[in-house]
Amino acid sequence: RAKEQGRNTYQFYEPEMNDFIYKRAQLEQGLRKALELNEFTLLFQPQIELNAGKIIGNEALIRWKHGVAGMISPADFIPLSEETGLIVPIGEWVLRKACEQNVAWQKAGFPPMRVSVNLSARQFQQMNLVENVTEILSETGLDPQYLELEITETIAMHNEEYVIAKLNALKKLGIRIAMDDFGTGYSSLGYLNKLPIDTLKIDKSFLGDIKEGQNSEICATIIAMARNMNLNVIAEGVETKEQLDFLFQHKCMEAQGYLFSKPVSADEFVQTYLSIQEVAAGKVDKG
Ligand code: C2E
Ligand code: MG
Ligand code: MG
Ligand code: MG
Repeated sequence: RAKEQGRNTYQFYEPEMNDFIYKRAQLEQGLRKALELNEFTLLFQPQIELNAGKIIGNEALIRWKHGVAGMISPADFIPLSEETGLIVPIGEWVLRKACEQNVAWQKAGFPPMRVSVNLSARQFQQMNLVENVTEILSETGLDPQYLELEITETIAMHNEEYVIAKLNALKKLGIRIAMDDFGTGYSSLGYLNKLPIDTLKIDKSFLGDIKEGQNSEICATIIAMARNMNLNVIAEGVETKEQLDFLFQHKCMEAQGYLFSKPVSADEFVQTYLSIQEVAAGKVDKG
C-alpha cells in the first residue's frame, strides 16, 4: 500500500496500523486526564463463604467512565496504564478508595468483610509500595486484617529474593496476600511454597468448562494443593449451579462469580449484600 501512495508521502504502516496508533495515543491522552477528571469508579464483587452462605469479602474492580466512549473495561486500559506507568497513581487511587469504602460500610453497621485489591506488576515494583500501603491504611483507618492484595504469577516470576522480601514486608503490616488467576502462569510449586501468601484464587478459565476432564482435574488439584499448603482457596468466575456443586464436592468453600453477583457499585452493594445472603443460603441447603 505504501507504494500506491506515491513518491511524496511516507506511509510506513497499513492504514489499520495508523488507526491503531492513533487510538492508542488518544487512549493514553485520555488516561492521563482521567484521574483529575474523576472518571474512574470502583465496582465491588461479593465473595461468598459457601458453608455459611455469607459474604466474607469483595473484590474492588476499576471502571473508566469515559466522557465520549462510555464505560471502558480494565482489560482495555490496564495494560496501557502499566506500560506508561500511569498504573501507579491509578492503583493508589483504587487502593485508597477501596479502603475508604470498606471503612464506610463497617461504620454503617455491616459486619466487617475483607476487600481484595488487584496489584499490577509495576505497582509491586514501586520502591515505596509498602510506605504507600501503610499511609493509606492509616489515612483511611482500615484495620489491616481486612485488606487483601492480589498479585499474579507474573509479579512473582521476577527476582525471587526481592519478591519474597517485599511480600514479607507487606505481610508485616498485617494485610493478606492472594495469588490471582492461579494456574495460568508458570510458577513452580517449590517457588509458590516459599511465597508468604494466604490465598489462592483459581482462575476462572478452569471453572469455565468444568465438565471437561482436564479442567476439573486442574481445579481439584489446586484445591487439594491449597489445603496441603494450608492456604485459603477461592474460585472465581462461578456462574452455574453445576460449578458450585463441584466446589462443594471438592471442599473449596469460597467463591466469587455471576451466580452470586456481578461487580456492582458501592450503592448497589448494600442491596446485593442482603439478597445474596438468601441466594447463597438456598444453594447451601440444596448442596
Ligand atoms: P481479575 O482480578 O481476575 O478479576 C476478575 C474478573 O472476572 C473481573 O473482570 C470480573 O468482573 C470478572 N468476573 C467475575 N465473576 C465472573 C463470572 O462469573 N464470569 C465471568 N465471565 N467473569 C467474571 P473485570 O472487572 O473486567 O477485570 C478484569 C481484570 O482487570 C481483572 O481480573 C484484573 O486483572 C484487572 N483489574 C481490574 N481492576 C483493577 C485494578 O483496580 N487494578 C489493577 N491493577 N487491575 C485491575
Ligand atoms: Mg483479581
Ligand atoms: Mg488480576
Ligand atoms: Mg482473577
